[in-house]
Amino acid sequence: MKLPNIKILDESNKILRQVSKEVTFPLDEETKQLIMDSLLYLEMSQIDEYIEKYNLRAGMGLSFVQIGILKRIFVISEELEKGKFKRYILINPKIISKSEELIYVGEGEGCLSVNRPVEGIVPRHARITVEAYDINGNKFTIRVREDIAVAFQHEMDHLNGILFVDRIDKKNPYKNAQLMREI
Ligand code: ZN
Repeated sequence: MKLPNIKILDESNKILRQVSKEVTFPLDEETKQLIMDSLLYLEMSQIDEYIEKYNLRAGMGLSFVQIGILKRIFVISEELEKGKFKRYILINPKIISKSEELIYVGEGEGCLSVNRPVEGIVPRHARITVEAYDINGNKFTIRVREDIAVAFQHEMDHLNGILFVDRIDKKNPYKNAQLMREI
């Protein structure tokens, strides 16, 4: 498989701080192709053979702003078992409900735009319900929990110009840990 030509912006790039714009339908062919390319890129980045061949960092989620396109689109590819992936495509997503319970990823969140180790707690809702549009412009509702809920919130932050590192308390990165559940 050939790696799609996806160039991911680094955190130093100011575009990542901009708020992405709502998308109108129908999508043009170029946008649809970029969605598919982004998913394939994420999947290849989770397969050892391609990590080695293309010197990739593994990632499961990508927002369009990370490839320099300020559209409210993100994709996630979750590895269910070796080489088998579940794909999510969310366009114009909105959180319509969220759990009070907060969680955080114990080993820390990662981001394809943040190429350095970052310690600390990023508080996320344990469960969220999101309303969004699919690639054909059909509205749907999806409820996600645990690591996928974290991924959704991480990507939705990107659409608002926020990086996960912004949510970590600089002076006390493990502040309020006792109020949240580690996953
Ligand atoms: Zn990210």
